Amino acid sequence: MKAVCWYGRHDVRVKSVPDPKILNPRDAIIKITSTAICGSDLHLYEGNIPTMESGDILGHEFMGEVVEVGQGVKNLNIGDRVVVPFTISCGGCFFCKRDLWSLCDNSNPNAWMAEKFYGHSPSGLFGYSHLLGGYAGGQAEYARVPYADVGPLKIPDGLSDEQVLFLTDIFPTGYMAAENADIEPGDTVAVWGCGPVGQFAIQSAYMLGAERVIAIDRVPERLKMAKEQGKAEIINYEEVDAGEALKEMTGGRGPDRCIDAVGMEAHGTDAMAMYDKVAQAVKLETGRPTALRQAIVACRKGGTVSIPGVYGGFVDKVPLGAVVNKALTLRSGQTHVHKYLRPLLERIQNGEIDPSFVISHRLNLDDAPKAYEIFRNKQDNCTKVVLKP
Ligand code: NAD
Ligand code: ZN
Repeated sequence: MKAVCWYGRHDVRVKSVPDPKILNPRDAIIKITSTAICGSDLHLYEGNIPTMESGDILGHEFMGEVVEVGQGVKNLNIGDRVVVPFTISCGGCFFCKRDLWSLCDNSNPNAWMAEKFYGHSPSGLFGYSHLLGGYAGGQAEYARVPYADVGPLKIPDGLSDEQVLFLTDIFPTGYMAAENADIEPGDTVAVWGCGPVGQFAIQSAYMLGAERVIAIDRVPERLKMAKEQGKAEIINYEEVDAGEALKEMTGGRGPDRCIDAVGMEAHGTDAMAMYDKVAQAVKLETGRPTALRQAIVACRKGGTVSIPGVYGGFVDKVPLGAVVNKALTLRSGQTHVHKYLRPLLERIQNGEIDPSFVISHRLNLDDAPKAYEIFRNKQDNCTKVVLKP
């Protein structure tokens, strides 16, 4: 089959690789109909996630048709159309039973590696380094899905791929980010980053009762989307000092809830210059990650900072003094996708939201190298790419 493979920084290639096979009774094989590129894939593309190996198959946002199931998979039939959560979870461990699916104890065969980094291991993820399981990803024609009796969600007829594809990750991620922000009716919520995750965080913040959402980015088309689709007020941090603007817009008190939907985004030398600039603007020592530092400094006393943005290594220079002295709550995590699949599918079905609004590009799987490049560079108004195998 064809698959999008990682070969190093800014080097992805479409290769011919062996088809996946059932390895365990609880596996299924999915023939992929749609698969997206995520901001998280850009961390791999930049070479910022350790333990990737040449030839690893990328992709964790995918859906398709069941073509084979192991003996232990009783809930799926050949021909079922399913979306697959990006987190791999057994469904039976301490964490899965508590709805903390992305912390599953049984889905990372390389848990020892993650334990060395983080003390404990999160769940395995599709296409996201050997540290997180070494699973082949779903930017391919087929994928093996472990614990297929637990993860994949069958899609009712009448919904297109584009309407449900983002249940795999970014819709639940934006939603969990908003939930983690402890939003109360009347709150003002600031969202750093108007990428796909930020867009869903904005919409979810309103669903959870926010009165105002203020979105921060520098890419005009993304800010426009936040304003028009998301009904957010917007700040272009290249034009104004975002910290000052937030203060002004909230009568000096600061936003009640802050969401960092940026993470360790890197744009090579540009990024360094940008980090310096924003750090200076909020009068902090230069140091990454800037969006998170700014979120912590901007947040009102007693507020909550929610961090869906991905940080991979060891993050230092987080202004912990501000966290302590302003009695802030910080919450984060990879998304517990399984928990949100059904409730968010319902919101799609009853017409509350059509997630396909974020898609800017639909390309063939063969065009993946180009797709990574334009998504990374935010060229051609690119906000989200869906690849068709
Ligand atoms: P993206 O790269 O498309 O979007 C990031 C946006 O942040 C861009 O529009 C960029 O212009 C903006 N940005 C960069 N620096 C900024 C700053 N200092 N202030 C404000 N905006 C800034 O990525 P995405 O797909 O939207 O994902 C966003 C983050 O969420 C990534 O870190 C990704 O890894 C993470 N993510 C986490 C989970 C999870 O489970 N926690 C799941 C999916 C994605
Ligand atoms: Zn993703």
